[in-house]
Amino acid sequence: MRLAQRVEQLPAYLFAEISRKIADKRAQGVDVISFGIGDPDLPTPDHIVDALTRAAHDPANHRYPESEGLPELREAIAGWYDRRFDVRLDPQTEVLPLIGSKEGIGHIALCFIDPGDIALIPDPGYPVYSVGTVLAGGLPYFLPLTEENDFLPDLDAVPAEIIGKAKVLWLNYPNNPTGAVADVAFFRRAVQFAKEREVAVLHDGPYSEVSFDGYRPASFLQADGAKDVGIEFHSLSKSYNMTGWRIGMAAGNAEAIDALRRVKSNLDSGIPQSIQRMAIAALEGPQDCIEEHNRVYQRRRDRLVAALTKLGLRLRPPRASLYLWARVPEGLTSVHFAARLLDEAGVVVTPGIGYGPSGEGYVRLSLTIPDEQLEEGVRRMEALAASPGR
Ligand SMILES: *Cc1c(COP(=O)(O)O)cnc(C)c1O
Repeated sequence: MRLAQRVEQLPAYLFAEISRKIADKRAQGVDVISFGIGDPDLPTPDHIVDALTRAAHDPANHRYPESEGLPELREAIAGWYDRRFDVRLDPQTEVLPLIGSKEGIGHIALCFIDPGDIALIPDPGYPVYSVGTVLAGGLPYFLPLTEENDFLPDLDAVPAEIIGKAKVLWLNYPNNPTGAVADVAFFRRAVQFAKEREVAVLHDGPYSEVSFDGYRPASFLQADGAKDVGIEFHSLSKSYNMTGWRIGMAAGNAEAIDALRRVKSNLDSGIPQSIQRMAIAALEGPQDCIEEHNRVYQRRRDRLVAALTKLGLRLRPPRASLYLWARVPEGLTSVHFAARLLDEAGVVVTPGIGYGPSGEGYVRLSLTIPDEQLEEGVRRMEALAASPGR
C-alpha cells in the first residue's frame, strides 16, 4: 500500500498529542486537570434536544436529506442573521447549512485553491485553514497576529508577489486562540483589501455569541460590500453547546455559496434532518440560554485570570471567545511552560506554538471545564505560585 503524499504532509493534530500526554499522566495515577480543549462542558439546552426527539419519530426524517439543507433551516439562518446582526440574506442563494463549520472550512479550499495558489492565513490560528489549503494543493502564507497590533493581521504588510498568487484571506473573530475581537471598521478594511487585491474573504465566526461584560461581537457580513467579496462560517456548536451534533452554516456571497454547495453535494449527503430540526429550534427559540452560559464563562474567566497573573503570566481578559491567551514568563518557551505546569501541578494548558510560529511565548486555556475542576486547577496554580523556591 502506498499512501498519497498529501496524507504524509498532514501535521499531527495538536489535540491528539495533548490527549496522549494526559492519558500517560493519568496512567501514572496523576489526577490531571485539563484546560486544553475547547468543547463546551454544559449540556445542549432541553428545548433543542426536545426538537430532536420529536423529529426522530417522523419517518420523513429517516431518509437522505437534501445536501443544501431544509428550506426551513435556511430561512431560520437568514432570520437569525437579520435579528442578530441586521444582515439580510437570501435563504435560497446566500445560506448553506454545514455538517459543523469545520467541514465547510475544510471543503471551501476546493472551491478557491488550485495547486500553487496561496491562502493568507492568521498565525496563530485554527489549524483547519492551512490543512484545507494544503490538501487542495495550495500554499499557506501566514499573517502574524501580534499583541502590539491587537492580534489583527497587518494587511498592508503582505508582499505584492504574495498577493498576486493569493486567492483567499482567512479571518477569525472573536479569535481562537487569542480571544481577540474585531469591529466592523476592521471588517470594512478587509473588504477594501479584498476588492483592491481580488482576494476572497473567508471569515470564521463561531464565537460571536460567546462574549462578556455586555460586549456584542460583530459579523463580517455587517461590513458594507462584504457579500461582494466573501462568506462567513458560523456554527451552532459554541453558541448552543452543540459540538456533538455537528451542525453549522456558511452565509454570504452567492457564487461562493453555490461553489461550496456543488462541491459538497458530490461528497456528502447533508445533515441528518432531525439535527436540522434542532438547529431551527435553537435559532428560532428563546435565546436566554446564551446569557446564562456567558455568565458561567465570565466567572470562570475572572477566576483564571487572577490565578494566572499570580503565576507570573501576563494576559488581557478576553471580551469574547472561550479562550485565555497568556504570555508565559520571560525565558520559557510555551512548550517548556506547559510541560512544567503539567509536571508540577498536573494542569494541562495548550502551548501557543501549536497554533503557529507567532503563538510562541503564549499558552491557551479554555473556559469549557466544569466548575469543580476549574476550582481545583486554580487552587493548584495558586499553591504553585505561593510555593517557596519559585
Ligand atoms: C470550534 C471552532 C470551529 C468548528 O466548529 P464546528 O462547527 O463544531 O465544526 C471553527 N472555527 C473555530 C475557530 C473554532 O474554534
